[in-house]
Amino acid sequence: MSVIVIEVLALLAGLTGLGFLAKAALTRTRPGVRLRQEANRLEIDRAAALTCPIHGVQSEESLVRLPDGGTLCSVCYREAVHGQLPS
Ligand SMILES: [Zn+2]
Repeated sequence: MSVIVIEVLALLAGLTGLGFLAKAALTRTRPGVRLRQEANRLEIDRAAALTCPIHGVQSEESLVRLPDGGTLCSVCYREAVHGQLPS
């Protein structure tokens, strides 16, 4: 019984050590910093793609996919297709 407990503790210590090594590799090495910077860029690009310059932040589900692959906010699409909406 005590052997099993020691093995489980050794396994947990090994997994914890691997976790610390992985975290150190992602935060202190040049490739890790590069990965985080790319993730930051993707997050900023995604937030910018969801923001209409006129109507502000839109949910991803409310955007309209244009035939050329671009997206447009639903209010801008309605205005562009059906003319100016009454206010
Ligand atoms: Zn808009």
